[in-house]
Amino acid sequence: MTLTEKLPTEFRQRCEGIATEQRSLLNLRAFDRLPADVLVAQLNAKILTPEQIPSLDPCVVAVLLDSDQWSAGIINQNPLWIINNPRHTPARRESNLMHKFGHLLLRHKIVHFDPNTGLPLRRQIDEDEATYLGGCFQIPRRGLLWAVQCQMTQTEIAVHFNASEEMVRFRSNLTGVNVKT
Ligand SMILES: [Zn+2]
Repeated sequence: MTLTEKLPTEFRQRCEGIATEQRSLLNLRAFDRLPADVLVAQLNAKILTPEQIPSLDPCVVAVLLDSDQWSAGIINQNPLWIINNPRHTPARRESNLMHKFGHLLLRHKIVHFDPNTGLPLRRQIDEDEATYLGGCFQIPRRGLLWAVQCQMTQTEIAVHFNASEEMVRFRSNLTGVNVKT
């Protein structure tokens, strides 16, 4: 099932609304780029790499620094601290952080870890919702429409919004706004 099928229209419209609201707080329009670091500052967040967390066991730090299998995690909500995988590309970092801000602004419960397996106990619906809102932050539907009207290609849109081409395709599929490759 695709995200559009899983998430009701009202929810998807609400996400576009939240993204617009955050942009207007920053005096940005739908077609302006919203770098994750601007939201980091706006939300008073601190982005940490594993070795910057003093309470973390050095063995765990070594494992985390050697792995691509994780992206980012909220480790504290107030003040807001987010651990981020420094191995990922800048475009991936953007979508990872936007996904986390998605969880935050949708007021999802913080994810706990299963004490037996050490794996995060994620709720799939929360993950889908955060992914949807994260995408709206990066490329709002109206921003995508603007880019298409400007005859921008997929690559140009990705560069403009500081996103991966994969994200442009993802947003194009979700919003039904056709992007030329
Ligand atoms: Zn998540």
